Order: sequence, then C-alpha cells, then structure tokens
Amino acid sequence: MNKAVFLDRDGVINKEIGDYIKSWEAFEFNPGCFEALRKLQSDGYLLIVVTNQGGVEKGLYTEEIAEDILDKMCARLKAEGIDISEYYYSPHHSDFSASLDRKPDSIMMEKGLARFNIDSSKSYLIGDSERDIIAGEKAGLMSIKIDSNQNLLDIVEQML
Ligand SMILES: [Mg+2]
Repeated sequence: MNKAVFLDRDGVINKEIGDYIKSWEAFEFNPGCFEALRKLQSDGYLLIVVTNQGGVEKGLYTEEIAEDILDKMCARLKAEGIDISEYYYSPHHSDFSASLDRKPDSIMMEKGLARFNIDSSKSYLIGDSERDIIAGEKAGLMSIKIDSNQNLLDIVEQML
C-alpha cells in the first residue's frame, strides 16, 4: 500500500488572505512550500490536495474558475518537480446545503485513500483549521494543525 500526505490548500500551500481565492492572480505560494513538498515526495509520500471551495456555492466564482486555479497550481508545482497525485475540492457551503464532501467530513480523503490504495495509518493530513483536523481524523490520518501560512518546511522537517 501507498502512503500519502493530504494537504489543505489555503493557508497551507498558498497564502490565506482572509477571503476566497477567486482568481489565479490572488494565489501566492507560501514560503517553504516547494521545498517541503519535494521533501515529502522524495520520502515516498503521494501528495493529494483536499480543499473546501465554498465560494462556488456562494456564487463568488464558478467551478470552472476553481478548477482552473487548481490546475495552474498543479502546473506550477510540476515545474518545481512536484507531482500532485490528485486534488479534490468541495464547491459546497454549509449556508446553502449539507454536504458530506465538505470538510469536516471526510469523503474527499476517503476517495483519495481508495483510489491510490493508501494506508491511512501511515499517512498524514496537514491543515490550518480545526475542520481539517476533524476530517483527517475521521479518515484515520495522522492530522497536523499548523498556523495559517506557517512555513511548511519547518513542519515537514519535524514530521520526517
Ligand atoms: Mg485552510
């Protein structure tokens, strides 16, 4: 079986700006992110992004834009030698609908676990909010809460 690190996006990979990321122009990688992800990858971890994008259901941006930003993120990471195995996002917002794919529920992580044959007990989730941690623990992942925009390399060096 494989091992993986599931990564929240906003506040972990890119700068949490206190608002939804509605365009690629607003997306800024956090310091240490590339080095940290390369280190995890070279240690044999698959990298999977799991992100709530409730701004879609709020009507602030479309699913096409959400996917375009995620695709551009993956392309930029690829250029840095980093492969994201998959990203999952939830377009739902709790103000409008109940959805099991939205964190703190764990459907996004469970999809990744099944698809990539991942051993959850050897795998991690890294997130900057309590709902990430709840979701990760529901999926049986070792779950690490960081501060928003904390240097990911520091975290990864402590993990490995
Ligand atoms: Mg976050």
